Amino acid sequence: MTIRAGVLGYPARHSLSPALHGAWLEAAGIDGSYEAVEVAPEEFAREVRARFDDGWAGFNVTMPHKRAAFEFAGERTATAQALGVSNLIFMRGGKIVADNRDGEGFLYGLARQAPQLTLDGATALLLGAGGAAQAVAHALAGAGARVRIANRSPEPARELAKAVKGEAFASPPPPQAWADVALIVNATSMGMTDGPPVPDWLDFAGVQPGAVFYDLIYKPLDTPLIRRARKAGLKTVDGLDMLIGQARPAFQTLFGAPPPDAVDIRGLLLAKMGQ
Ligand code: NDP
Repeated sequence: MTIRAGVLGYPARHSLSPALHGAWLEAAGIDGSYEAVEVAPEEFAREVRARFDDGWAGFNVTMPHKRAAFEFAGERTATAQALGVSNLIFMRGGKIVADNRDGEGFLYGLARQAPQLTLDGATALLLGAGGAAQAVAHALAGAGARVRIANRSPEPARELAKAVKGEAFASPPPPQAWADVALIVNATSMGMTDGPPVPDWLDFAGVQPGAVFYDLIYKPLDTPLIRRARKAGLKTVDGLDMLIGQARPAFQTLFGAPPPDAVDIRGLLLAKMGQ
């Protein structure tokens, strides 16, 4: 029987996930399908329930449904529980389980594009305190990094800093927030296609040489902040490998087999993005 899975979003039709999972399904010879499922927030519970009742194996979850997916599930993995948001829901033993693999995806991106960086004992400055920032902050703290968080709205930054025993700063972050950082992460939507612009103060002045800048955004791939960071002499990491890094364990969960290594998935996605 065909295993059916997909990505839940609003919008969802521009998602790269169907191309990515579709290529893996084909290469692995699995009888499965993976579709973009566009669901309005008010339809979320009804639509998802209907699909699970219809035998779907599960879904990746993207904006704006990550919190709704977490609340919808009957069970939560420890990672999802810690974050309060889910990027993967699936059926297991008759129960709908919420998981979150964004943190794993984030670390995969670092391993691929900045393998020289040691997180244990390092200090990281995280810009943003939304859903993706939650996953990143926990992944960084779990890897032994000290986490500084700066966000436009101060309260989410304070809460997240408390959860990961880090430090919260106002935005723009003061000079001491930039001192000694080995890694700066943009987990805001600043610089995303059709997103808010990047502010002038984000110029990487005062960042120590050798630091890494990681932009979670992958649309566009070469973001305004990546370009600025490169100009300032920083090593840069783009968001595409994070997408791939969370999709790998999701594929295993949804289709019961690891994604085949033989597929050049980054190359495929770059071609799809016209890069
Ligand atoms: P959320 O909506 O949960 O969070 C958005 C964040 O951006 C908040 O911190 C918000 O601050 C901040 N923000 C929004 N507008 C502005 C602005 N005008 N000025 C300053 N800060 C702003 O989104 P996510 O956490 O899900 O996603 C954040 C980014 O990460 C997106 O660009 C997304 O594409 C990317 N992402 C990439 C992934 C990957 O696989 N590479 C996976 C998941 C996300 P405030 O709290 O003040 O509103």
